[in-house]
Amino acid sequence: RDGAGAPAPAADLRSRHRAVLPDWLTLLYERPIELTHGEGRHVWDADGNRYLDFFGGILTTMTAHALPEVTKAVADQAGRILHTSTLYLSRPMVELAERIAALSGIPDARVFFTTSGTEANDTALLLATAYRGSNQILAMRNSYHGRSFSTVGITGNASWSPTGLSPLQTLYVHGGVRGRGPYAGLSDAAYIDACVADLEDMLGQTAGVAALIAEPVQGVGGFTSPPDGLYAAFREVLDRHGILWISDEVQTGWGRTGDHFWGWQAHAGNGPPDLLTFAKGIGNGMSVGGVVARAEVMNCLGANSVSTFGGSPVTMAAALANLDHLLAHDLQGNARRVGGPLVKRLRAAGAELGIVREVRGRGLMIGVELVAPDTGQPSPRAANLVLEAARERGLLIGKGGLAGAALRIAPPLSLTAEEAAQGAEILTESLRAAERGLSSA
Ligand code: PMP
Repeated sequence: RDGAGAPAPAADLRSRHRAVLPDWLTLLYERPIELTHGEGRHVWDADGNRYLDFFGGILTTMTAHALPEVTKAVADQAGRILHTSTLYLSRPMVELAERIAALSGIPDARVFFTTSGTEANDTALLLATAYRGSNQILAMRNSYHGRSFSTVGITGNASWSPTGLSPLQTLYVHGGVRGRGPYAGLSDAAYIDACVADLEDMLGQTAGVAALIAEPVQGVGGFTSPPDGLYAAFREVLDRHGILWISDEVQTGWGRTGDHFWGWQAHAGNGPPDLLTFAKGIGNGMSVGGVVARAEVMNCLGANSVSTFGGSPVTMAAALANLDHLLAHDLQGNARRVGGPLVKRLRAAGAELGIVREVRGRGLMIGVELVAPDTGQPSPRAANLVLEAARERGLLIGKGGLAGAALRIAPPLSLTAEEAAQGAEILTESLRAAERGLSSA
């Protein structure tokens, strides 16, 4: 579409990006994509290509791209007040806090708003360590919780944790992902028992741990679900030691997993977590994150505090409109109804392909684990080939997992059955193309 010799707009932007932004700011694709706009479940790039979005802008588009109610709420609020800061009363902030407190399942809940998942987890760590008077944290192997000084320290996935210079003392627990080690072949019940024994063993060697933080389904880790009930079993042990449970719902919240509104509900044996963190989708693209905690925990900080941008009226208005839409259209039910058949289709396709080791998922949070067919070992190269092949065919997906060999599928929650079928078809073709690409390499 460009004149002869002129750089394509996206190519120009790519070189400018590389010249001025950090090297560690990971970009997807050999030729990274510049997105220009979106609508529903589709996005467009600067070269005029349209993509079906199976990655939801990495889950920030909870309901749909450019949802009219959210756009209107943002415009109305932006036209009214540009001042932010928690030093003044704010109606949208109080209203959203009331809604989230009621939805959280946490009794006597208090809500604090942040601008990212990282800051939400950082705040949860601040609260838990202050409440317990300890800087010891239990985190899950293969976990991801953010990119700040404290959250890289509890991120169990080394490829996303650039330094080990954490202010926290972190102990890593088995359970979030079964992996390939001695736990791989166990039944669900035996696996839970083994993980609980590991936890008890660890707690026998340390004293005064503040909290366990865990993603109910590991996101960056590759959409791996532990067996239902794992965290309920952990909870019994934690309760005996007075240790708090922080559920990182940044990826699993708001009905994405279909059967449940929160990921922790798959582990609800002993009730809700003490703290819950959220972010990403609730603002449908606007920066909204936060922490919910029992009043006793939230209010344990004695000092003054203020947030300049957390809970700002424009972002709160976006989240309120988004949440209304989600609930009014039962998008959690949609995730279940559309996600179930999508997993089945992908399993059927995967059964015929040597590169697919496992298709796993709940609702619209689906992982596909890829291996090299000749060795059976995790294959990040296969994942890259599938990503590129899907892109060429007009489908955006993500990747993750400890080895970078898992595909991550997380479309906006309004995905229709037809779009799911279309995406499954493109993904199947892309998996076949990648398998051919691997064997010809
Ligand atoms: N927790 C989880 C489970 C996440 O997946 C992420 C983001 N990938 C974060 C926390 C950090 O969120 P943010 O990027 O908004 O800081």
